[in-house]
Amino acid sequence: MASLDEISSAQLQRYSRQIMLPQIGIEGQLRLLRAHVFIIGVGGLGSAAAYYLTASGIGKLSICDAEQVEASNLQRQILHGSDDIGRLKTESARNALHRLNPDIQIHTINRRFETLEPQQLETVDILLDASDNFATRFSANHTSIRLGIPLVSAAAIRMEGQLSTFEPKHADSPCYQCLYRDEAMDTPDNCSVGGVLAPIVGIIGTLQALEAIKLITGTGEPLRGRLLLFDGAGLQWRSVRLPRDPLCPACGQRQR
Ligand SMILES: [Zn+2]
Repeated sequence: MASLDEISSAQLQRYSRQIMLPQIGIEGQLRLLRAHVFIIGVGGLGSAAAYYLTASGIGKLSICDAEQVEASNLQRQILHGSDDIGRLKTESARNALHRLNPDIQIHTINRRFETLEPQQLETVDILLDASDNFATRFSANHTSIRLGIPLVSAAAIRMEGQLSTFEPKHADSPCYQCLYRDEAMDTPDNCSVGGVLAPIVGIIGTLQALEAIKLITGTGEPLRGRLLLFDGAGLQWRSVRLPRDPLCPACGQRQR
């Protein structure tokens, strides 16, 4: 059981509206303060997710992005401002997040996720894929399966978004490649070719933060085995069942 000695009075005050939720309490807040979330990409989805995770009191955030801020990012990547054009996105993001909550430990990685060694992710509790390309998404999926780390995966384009949570330690959980196969690599479809309306990435990125908080605190039902689809034009949500594929090239051999 958590005790009051483990949380400072400043933290009690700061996170009081969360602590008063019976599903969170001091125990849940302490779990958040001890958690390490790894965010792949601090673009549109990553901006929204990182802001809410930082505000919620996640103890350590790793942010991984090799790009620099460009003018065309500013319409939706709200961690970055006009003065940040030309800076590394990770640096700009760290500044913005520290201004919001200086207590959060922020680790920046200025590389593409695919180039990282698995040892660099050993202490990670949740992997949050906020990237915009299939090569990175497949790499995140492999890492999630190999290290047994839950993966909260999302995508947003035009006026649509989608979200799912993969938990490789659960025998019935599908993985990202049960949904998309390698052939998807041949069909680049991201916001640089299709465009995206600004609030769409905010809505979906915020849901990624919510899923991460639920997984860390054991609150509610994670989106395991379901794919949530959002249609911003018709303002409709749809949830479809996503079963595990026994022939999946990534998780088909995993222990069932
Ligand atoms: Zn799979």
